[in-house]
Amino acid sequence: MSVNSKPEEIAIRRSKEHEQAAQAATSAPARAYHLAAMRAFDKAAAELASGRLPVRAGDDWLVHSRSANAVYRVHVANATCNCPAGMHGRLCWHLAAAQAMEEATAVEDSVGF
Ligand SMILES: [Zn+2]
Repeated sequence: MSVNSKPEEIAIRRSKEHEQAAQAATSAPARAYHLAAMRAFDKAAAELASGRLPVRAGDDWLVHSRSANAVYRVHVANATCNCPAGMHGRLCWHLAAAQAMEEATAVEDSVGF
């Protein structure tokens, strides 16, 4: 149990990785991508820490919107989310939160045999 990372800890780790990647980026598009990803994981970490966790729905995750009265559907393997940002191919915090949840769940599964 103690080896498991909480989803918000995974999101914080991902944020720091993207921050470092942004600092090391040699092109403006790469830097912009990593900064956007860093912000997505920052927001995901705050949401996950508050206890509003994405819910598993088959292969998807359902994530409640913070700003709209909506629930968005995330598919981690395809890196898709049906929110307005996700529909434009941007990494939104819903996808970041679902990635962290999936990683946390995978760790549990792998040590749960
Ligand atoms: Zn989204």
